[in-house]
Amino acid sequence: MAELIAADKAMDAALALLSAGEVVAIPTETVYGLAGDATNGEAVARIFEAKGRPRFNPLIAHVADMAMAERIGVFDPLSRNLAEKFWPGPLTLVVPLRPEAGIHPLVTAGLDTIALRMPMGFGGKLIARLGRPLAAPSANTSGKISSTSGEAVASDLGGRIPLVVDGGSTPVGLESTIVKVEDGKVRMLRPGGVAASEIEALAGAPLLRGATAGIEAPGMLASHYAPGAALRLNVGKVGAGEALLGFGPERAEGWQQARAFLNLSETGDLREAATNLFAHLQALDRSGAASIAVEPVPSDELGEAINDRLARAAAPRDNLHV
Ligand code: AMP
Ligand code: MG
Repeated sequence: MAELIAADKAMDAALALLSAGEVVAIPTETVYGLAGDATNGEAVARIFEAKGRPRFNPLIAHVADMAMAERIGVFDPLSRNLAEKFWPGPLTLVVPLRPEAGIHPLVTAGLDTIALRMPMGFGGKLIARLGRPLAAPSANTSGKISSTSGEAVASDLGGRIPLVVDGGSTPVGLESTIVKVEDGKVRMLRPGGVAASEIEALAGAPLLRGATAGIEAPGMLASHYAPGAALRLNVGKVGAGEALLGFGPERAEGWQQARAFLNLSETGDLREAATNLFAHLQALDRSGAASIAVEPVPSDELGEAINDRLARAAAPRDNLHV
């Protein structure tokens, strides 16, 4: 059962857990977040596991200050102005990711952009002390509404996480507004705690709305990293010239002939498999194989999200923009 500790006493316990790759529920000004070190794949996998999320959608990375944000993302002048005006606060900016920033690919679901936000209060102080960004979706079981009090988090997720930092009720009470600057114009990807009119006042132009092809929106295939190679799932036998993505100790027939081989987890550990998923797909894609054969992955626990991601990557390419 999670410990529920008041925010003014919880800093050291939260730091210790996060440094050890654990997840911690924290208050932010929007809703409670389920936070993990964004540079640690196992911590990020634990977030999905604790939420029971059936999909790996990209998460928001939370930063302590503008310097940390600029080390992770590339800020055009308008994005920087928006950050300076609304941070810390309930505005999330999607910007190009700096690949060398050390953000684990499970945070961005393999995308080359990243959603960044600087939270107020406990979260901001925690990130500054940790010195690393925190990935943090809302602290609730997948499909349930976001929690706005420490007790609500504890009763929902308490059995699955070690610590809930109790900061009372969250002042904004709804999620952050997500925007992305495209060619000098601001697109709103999700409405939230900062009103469109406030952003329009700064941008000097009406916001674009909705997602465009290539931009993340929940359920949009086009948004996600799609390998150039075709994917063949639940494979028992490797075809000529194929690369092989394995899972567990047993190999598909003909695996010695694979053009390239990587294993999501030798021991069949789904959390390890989740942390390796995007990096392994990208590496096998770079091997130049026209097709990647994928061994069966069980669909319990994190396996559901892994299989969802694999099915999307295997979908015919002309379905990518639906
Ligand atoms: P939450 O699960 O409430 O933290 O929501 C995260 C939101 O941020 C989701 O709607 C994502 O689709 C969105 N998001 C995260 N990363 C990106 C990105 N790189 N591009 C566009 N949207 C993103
Ligand atoms: Mg949520």
